[in-house]
Amino acid sequence: MFYSKSENTENYLSSSSYQEQETQWHCLPDPELFKGLSAEETENWKTYLYTKPKKEGQKFNLRSHVIALYDPFAARKDFAAGRRWCVNVYVGCAHSCRYCYIAAYIRKPFEPRPKKNFEKLLEKDFKEIENLNLHPAPVHISNSTDPFQPIEKIHRHTLFLLRELQAHRRCFTTITMLTKNPAILCESEYLNIIQQLEIFQVEVTCPFYRDEIRKYFEPGAPRVESRLNAIETLRKNNISVSLRIDPIFPREPLPEQFFTKPLLKDYAAPESHTEEDIEQLIRFAANVGCKRVIVSPLKLTIGRFAGGDLRPDYLKLYLEAGRNGNEKIKKGSSYRLPWALYRHWREKPEQLGASLGISVFYCKNNLFDTD
Ligand code: SF4
Repeated sequence: MFYSKSENTENYLSSSSYQEQETQWHCLPDPELFKGLSAEETENWKTYLYTKPKKEGQKFNLRSHVIALYDPFAARKDFAAGRRWCVNVYVGCAHSCRYCYIAAYIRKPFEPRPKKNFEKLLEKDFKEIENLNLHPAPVHISNSTDPFQPIEKIHRHTLFLLRELQAHRRCFTTITMLTKNPAILCESEYLNIIQQLEIFQVEVTCPFYRDEIRKYFEPGAPRVESRLNAIETLRKNNISVSLRIDPIFPREPLPEQFFTKPLLKDYAAPESHTEEDIEQLIRFAANVGCKRVIVSPLKLTIGRFAGGDLRPDYLKLYLEAGRNGNEKIKKGSSYRLPWALYRHWREKPEQLGASLGISVFYCKNNLFDTD
């Protein structure tokens, strides 16, 4: 099977990585991808996405694009809408998060670099999408890099992309930006554009409320204060913002149903966020008028290219939860806590959100209301 189950979808090889590694991916088009399209529209999508096999029965190769298919190896039936775009503006990321999963598929994951000929290739993709008259789809920027990491100040590729999106707005339904550095978006040349982009939303990831914890898990990322201040500014400028508590870590008290010991340190796991930290983040999001809070549980992935990951910190704890919860925790290439435990941990945040009038969602695929 070349289409992964939804739980593995985050582990796909991004367009940037296969561009970089000069790898060609062999796969058959997932019929779900073309659901609702006419025969002609389907043919046009295939033309954009694949190099055509010379003979019947031969494999399709996924073409390399800057405007690439979102999570190309995921089963589309697991997505709210199968056809989505993703633009990874850069390759690699300076934020160097210890839980980052791009280390599983991108060489030198924490050495950010621009894509060669980014502007030219982007224009080429826009032209092709327009010429083929592809049915508008949501676009996500960026899932395997941060579009506003420090090299944006040098290359300004994200600014270029925003200008192009403005010029080709009709090609997309919604535009979603994902970042840990929303402060750049508050600068006038960015803000002026996004204020004019209809159905534009920013998802700001801020899993921690205390900066000392952020420093351990996200050593290269902007301070918590900087992110929260920027969210406030964006909201004052009427930009739609969702706050992502992503990933959400195991936290104390560890429930007896799953753990024989109550504290993280009993499992040699580091301190992360507390219930109170999460409460503060949800209260902040509600106060500034965020659209929603998105919570995504921590997966332990294997950092093939980073030479490290969080398994030494958390695996002991995950294994015990899996044994006591009677659930297999190794799913695909990552470890996940049992669902019953997530359900337990999500209760309080959801109740708090409900009392404050803000939705708190648990998600795996980062896909909310973006059609
Ligand atoms: S911001 Fe995202 S892409 Fe960048 S290092 Fe952190 S988790 Fe990885």
